Amino acid sequence: MVVGGGSAGWLTAALIAAEHVATPLRPLRVTVLESPNVAPIGVGEGTWPTMRDTLRRVGVSETELVRECDASFKQGSRFNAWVDGLDNHGYFHPFVLPQGYTETNLVAGWLQSHAHVPFADLVSFQPHLCAQGKAPKQTATPEYAAVANYGYHFDAGKFGLLLRKHCTGRLGVRHVQDHVVGINTHDNGDIASLQTRTQGALAGDLFVDCTGLQSLLLAGHYGVEFVSQKQVLFNDTALAVQVPYAHDSSPIASHTISTAQHSGWVWDIGLPTRRGVGHVYSSAHTSDEAAEQALRTYIEKTGGPQDMASPRKLSFEPGYRKEFWHRNCVAIGLSAGFIEPLEASALALVELSAAMLSDEMPATRDAMDIVARRFNDAFSYRWERVIDFLKLHYVLSQRRDSAFWRDHVAQASIPERLQELLTLWRHRPPSRYDLVRVEEMFPSASYQYVLYGMGFRPEPGAYDRRADSSDRADGFFRQAAQLTRKMLPALPSNRDLIDHIKRHGMLPI
Ligand SMILES: Cc1cc2nc3c(=O)[nH]c(=O)nc-3n(C[C@H](O)[C@H](O)[C@H](O)COP(=O)(O)OP(=O)(O)OC[C@H]3O[C@@H](n4cnc5c(N)ncnc54)[C@H](O)[C@@H]3O)c2cc1C
Repeated sequence: MVVGGGSAGWLTAALIAAEHVATPLRPLRVTVLESPNVAPIGVGEGTWPTMRDTLRRVGVSETELVRECDASFKQGSRFNAWVDGLDNHGYFHPFVLPQGYTETNLVAGWLQSHAHVPFADLVSFQPHLCAQGKAPKQTATPEYAAVANYGYHFDAGKFGLLLRKHCTGRLGVRHVQDHVVGINTHDNGDIASLQTRTQGALAGDLFVDCTGLQSLLLAGHYGVEFVSQKQVLFNDTALAVQVPYAHDSSPIASHTISTAQHSGWVWDIGLPTRRGVGHVYSSAHTSDEAAEQALRTYIEKTGGPQDMASPRKLSFEPGYRKEFWHRNCVAIGLSAGFIEPLEASALALVELSAAMLSDEMPATRDAMDIVARRFNDAFSYRWERVIDFLKLHYVLSQRRDSAFWRDHVAQASIPERLQELLTLWRHRPPSRYDLVRVEEMFPSASYQYVLYGMGFRPEPGAYDRRADSSDRADGFFRQAAQLTRKMLPALPSNRDLIDHIKRHGMLPI
């Protein structure tokens, strides 16, 4: 029984239903129970390339996704004003690995002869595609296939509706609309059933808590402790607004634009029919009024209307639960935790959680406790890595123009593991030895993109190890430049590709 019909609930239900056939021995049935009185959060528009695999795995058509969810293609993020506060100074964190990443020390080659070129622009073609608003594929590229690695930007509300239609229409998921008002337990403490307002008690064997920030079962019923991260990452409030384009033919950015502000940052996500823009900030460091003014200024500066609609305010405490799977209840989505929207890791965590649940679906109650322990270990580790990676952006900033930025570099606010890594990286670049688990949240390449994009530099000469590394790296830099020259004229703009898909669809795989 999945409780909650937001993105987390429907993605989890879809993965389980798509991958488990009910048999007389294992009569697995998936139900999504959602309250008609509590709307899904309605934000969460940026995803990772993992979403392509997830949607393909559950059988959603990519053409339908583009047509029904106002979806566009995302190839990474650009960070403006993060380094020194200057709007025109930024860098890319693209989704493709640097050219030749696993074969040589590119960073040494970059520092030796090309340090005047931004790292990502030298080692990857993708920042150049993004800078020119190019799509990551051609009109003839089939569904889910890519010329350049990509994820999506989409309308979160419409995404939930598409998944709901897919789950109930094609995957046999039962959909119950009712409000949970109580929880009934077995003698051993397991949840036996959920008491609903109009349909009585609904029983189940395993309950997936996808009830959003209120975490109705895991926190509300079981009281599982919350591990706050407010002392590490201070943002706890967001103002979100939808911004119309100046024209129907305005370009659609194929990357998320993140622009640092006085006490937070603004996200800017281009969908085909509008932009989704929001200011996420620390309420301890600025007021709602000042944050709204900063958002208005950003929107005006980036071509939006002067009479911006009133933004929607969302509050959250950054952190996650001490455990995610307790007895026969597992929390996925906001009910498990939320840090902040930077790097859009929340839906990726939902995908990983739903995938592990589906792959490891316990066959018996005894097996469930074992799976639960492993699940808790895997996801505690992943939340910690998300925190390290997000904090990295703030720690490396040279901004000191407000208490927000100054507080972010206070030693006590920096996780110990991140401090250690920063020490190591003065002498060698981030590598696979730093991230040793399968399915790490962020690969070492992502750390390199952010580290060097943010202006981090090693001890002089520290990275020069092998005599030939500079020559080998140069070969890969030339490859990246050749790919850029080849791809730029061959790829349509993000908008042209989306218009084409809306009219003609994509070749199914
Ligand atoms: C400002 C902000 C920006 C974000 N941006 C991104 C982003 O760019 N990328 C990304 O990956 N993530 C992002 N996220 C996170 C993302 O929004 C969520 O991870 C995602 O939407 C999943 O939400 P959910 O399904 O867990 O919860 P919700 O969408 O809140 O759904 C909760 C569900 O529980 C149900 N429910 C609640 N109470 C009851 C009850 N008593 N009985 C029955 N049902 C009940 C509700 O009806 C609803 O269906 C962002 C979050 C915030 C706050």
